[in-house]
Amino acid sequence: MKILVANLGSTSLKWRLFDFAVGQERLLHKGGFERVADYAQAIEDCLAELKRSGAIQHESELAAVGFKTIMARGINGCVRLDQQVLQAMEFYNQIAPAHNPPYVTGIRLFARRMPDTPLIGLFETAFYQWAPEAAMRYAVPQAWHELGVRRWGFHGASHKFIAERSAELLGREDVALRVRQLYVDGGRSPVRQPELRVISCHLGGSSSVTGILNGVAIGNSLGMSPQSGLPQNNRVGDLDAFALPFLMRTARLTLDEAERVLCQESGLKALSGGANDIRDIQAQAAQGDPRAQLALDTLVHQARHWIGAFHLELNGADALVFTAGIGENQTRIRQAICAQLEQLGIALDSAANDRVRAQESVISTPASRVKVMVIPTNEELVVAREAKRLLENSKN
Ligand code: AMP
Repeated sequence: MKILVANLGSTSLKWRLFDFAVGQERLLHKGGFERVADYAQAIEDCLAELKRSGAIQHESELAAVGFKTIMARGINGCVRLDQQVLQAMEFYNQIAPAHNPPYVTGIRLFARRMPDTPLIGLFETAFYQWAPEAAMRYAVPQAWHELGVRRWGFHGASHKFIAERSAELLGREDVALRVRQLYVDGGRSPVRQPELRVISCHLGGSSSVTGILNGVAIGNSLGMSPQSGLPQNNRVGDLDAFALPFLMRTARLTLDEAERVLCQESGLKALSGGANDIRDIQAQAAQGDPRAQLALDTLVHQARHWIGAFHLELNGADALVFTAGIGENQTRIRQAICAQLEQLGIALDSAANDRVRAQESVISTPASRVKVMVIPTNEELVVAREAKRLLENSKN
């Protein structure tokens, strides 16, 4: 069974094609285009490239196209993307302006191009469906809560991948099995004692930290929107809600302008004075730019803040995992996040940390109570697995 997973940005299309045969999962092809001006043409070019590479002969071989969709009103989990779901996604366009609109547009174009192929979305909010209510509520009136003003949590596909893979690497097949079953039984598969407590740090252009107990998320640093939590590349991260009316009244910003600045001119970009890529910010900091150093320090401070929160909620941790562009590659950021945490049982092995980039590895000392690990994420594989499961279940 071949499943294509398409990652849709406002000007990019990236994809991975998986083949699921009995008992195996194979990546057949991956590719992408940046600076896309004509999305319909990009889809055409993607299909042409899949054929040219020999990965498929014809698009009818694709059992489904899967998407890492963000959020939709009243819809969660893994679903077929019909008109009703697309409208429910559009309802939250303003909450996820960098994500939902390109997905809705791109999915409609896929539907037009491949009307007979199932299009399936795994929502990024799905992993948090079983988090305790107290961790997901904002203290707002019930009517606001029902409109969606609550913590949703995002990066669900990535943190789910880490939940499963970390359990496998820690020799806890029972917990890995629970993660695999999560969207079927809601985390009811039995697990052995002792409990497995994992803190997953997805640090990249967009960052979040999640606490995971026995394979099930207990919360996420991202709140109602993917602009919250840690400072993101251009997006603000956590901000007191009263800042917005204050700015609108005092600095006379319009709502549209304030929203644009919060989404496009804030986060690391605002702190550093322009750069939003950690490599550029580090180069600036190395030249003595205090704004760049502040951007790095703020990211580290916020990551530690959330690691601390989940460490407390989990009553300790068995593993602290780093993933995504920064988490997998940025040795100095990992070092700074783990500095002086021996009291919490976290002791980084500096030499191992310096060596490891984008490969599965333990980077803590043998004496460290918490295993600090690097695990490259694979969000597309999680989407493909769930799409496959949905197809199989709908046949039965
Ligand atoms: P992501 O959104 O996961 O692609 O992560 C993007 C961030 O990760 C950027 O800030 C990059 O500077 C950083 N990053 C990605 N790849 C590398 C690498 N090979 N070495 C250092 N930093 C990287």
